[in-house]
Amino acid sequence: MGEPIVIALDGTSASGKSTNAKLVAKALEYVYVDTGAMYRSLAWHCLEKGVALDNEKAIASLCRRWKAELRNDDGHIRLYVDGYLPEKEIRTAETSAAVPTVAAVPGVRKWMKIKQRDCARFGNLVMEGRDIGSNIFPETDFKYYLNASLDERAKRRAADGVDENLAERDKRDSQRAAAPLMIALGARVIDNSAMTAEETSTLIINEVRKRLEETG
Ligand code: C5P
Repeated sequence: MGEPIVIALDGTSASGKSTNAKLVAKALEYVYVDTGAMYRSLAWHCLEKGVALDNEKAIASLCRRWKAELRNDDGHIRLYVDGYLPEKEIRTAETSAAVPTVAAVPGVRKWMKIKQRDCARFGNLVMEGRDIGSNIFPETDFKYYLNASLDERAKRRAADGVDENLAERDKRDSQRAAAPLMIALGARVIDNSAMTAEETSTLIINEVRKRLEETG
């Protein structure tokens, strides 16, 4: 067996990364990794442990010490913290507001890079995030960058019952020094403002299949 294939799906907040990554993973029978959930879990853990968000050293130190383990739950790679999977807790407004701060800490990004690259041991991957094509798996030939208008993205979040400042989170993710949100070299940019998830995922699935056939 050769090296696992990695499909990197990056993009702005609420650009449809999760929905599309899951659809692509299902169609191709690859495993799915939501790296945003990994950063959210750490942000939640910091809040739980009372770590001050303006203390980079304390955040990096907690990250080095936390007992976080990857598990494959039915094709979905998830990070368990002390044997527990935080799900609802990582989607609260409080965690969403804290996560860009935690994600900007260089020590955190270093730890996440090692863990995220380690996901390849589970097989072919669809990995969604902000820096997958630019930093985590820059060597992959399959890079996509999703975006949609701010208006459309806010509507999607509101439909999920979430009201948050997406523009502010994107700005913080794009402007940080360590592995910022950017369009990776060679990435195909898809603006899906007027597209359904079915249309977006089909476009990706067909392109990946075609290129894999071409390369044998
Ligand atoms: O994708 P999601 O909205 O769950 O990501 C939450 C936050 O985690 C992002 O706003 C960003 O601050 C951080 N993140 C990151 N790099 C990734 C994935 C997420 O910095 N690869």
